[in-house]
Amino acid sequence: MYNTFQKHLSSELAAIEDAGLYKHERLISSPQGAEISVNGKTVLNFCANNYLGLANHPALIEAASKAMSERGYGMSSVRFICGTQDLHRQLETAVARFFGTEDAILYAACFDANGGVFEPLLNEEDAIISDALNHASIIDGVRLCKAQRFRYANADMHDLEAQLQAAANCRFKLIVTDGVFSMDGNVAPLDKIYSLANKYDAMILVDESHSAGVVGETGRGVTEQYNLRGQIEIITGTLGKAFGGAVGGFTTGRQEIISLLRQRSRPYLFSNSLPPMVVAAGIRMFEMMDATNELQAQLHANTAFFVKNMIAAGFDIKPTQSAICAVMLYDAKLSQQMAALLQEEGIYVTGFYYPVVPQNQARIRVQISAAHTRTHLEQCIAAFTKVGRTLGIIK
Ligand SMILES: *Cc1c(COP(=O)(O)O)cnc(C)c1O
Repeated sequence: MYNTFQKHLSSELAAIEDAGLYKHERLISSPQGAEISVNGKTVLNFCANNYLGLANHPALIEAASKAMSERGYGMSSVRFICGTQDLHRQLETAVARFFGTEDAILYAACFDANGGVFEPLLNEEDAIISDALNHASIIDGVRLCKAQRFRYANADMHDLEAQLQAAANCRFKLIVTDGVFSMDGNVAPLDKIYSLANKYDAMILVDESHSAGVVGETGRGVTEQYNLRGQIEIITGTLGKAFGGAVGGFTTGRQEIISLLRQRSRPYLFSNSLPPMVVAAGIRMFEMMDATNELQAQLHANTAFFVKNMIAAGFDIKPTQSAICAVMLYDAKLSQQMAALLQEEGIYVTGFYYPVVPQNQARIRVQISAAHTRTHLEQCIAAFTKVGRTLGIIK
């Protein structure tokens, strides 16, 4: 049997390669950070989700090491059997405090948080109204749920209203959106979504994976940006981006929602507990967030500096309210050439093109970190300027 299947797989793989879509992984031999070692060469990293520069932070490493020696390596259990330490509850409390919500529940990843949030809460009498650009894990989570599905064009409030009207006869309605959309860096218009939710008696779920720690004056996410702290029924997020970059996800929000997820959410019930070291580092990370907003302020200053100088250099940058800066090139081939030349200049970035972004919308996505120094940012802008002139993108 495998012979014919093998031929089938080989031709699938060849088709991916022929389409130029094969994802080759570059091997990094240093910790994650602003400067990383790739193939023995030191480059400046502008494509990690390491927004606050915590991925290799000494305080988190210390907290993780201490927990590993005091609490061991792993839990060998799911939470409800014998996999809950006091640390897990402390981290859940810290998540809820950060977002101004009532309670929180941890998962192995935000992919699991989104995979396990819809099915226990809604059924065929209900409606999920989802932004067209929502993350793959939301799409998969919605598929696992029997609720009726409605989709609206990205951040398009006319379309959202039309979909809310189409769903008018459903029992419960849940609007679902990413906080920040990862290809453009735009923030979901949560104020308008909130008004429509009130008008049509709907609830809201926001996935704050790219916005938590980043968006809002103190980095509390889009609910801070729009003055809606504690007003949104459900927030999901990851510990794998700004919050230390290791692994882990969470759902936070109304008490009864979190309590029911603890009883019924399948990725929570049937998957292993987060290891104590990850949990302890998460607790330490939220203590740092409570103590100071220094890193968020640094990130915001870095992003503003980068965007201002790239625009001054003549680049076409998508308007951003996050730490994601899309440098628009439109042409797919050009985006790949530019990324390769930037790599030669010691700047690690990725070019994205169709089908990851719409046709003729190719771009280089630059992700800014609080760990970037002014010199790093200047080197990046200088390299973009040099390569941009070589390729005739800017004058
Ligand atoms: C990264 C991301 C996820 C997945 O988070 P993991 O914890 O890595 O599984 C989910 N949703 C959004 C919007 C993301 O950007």
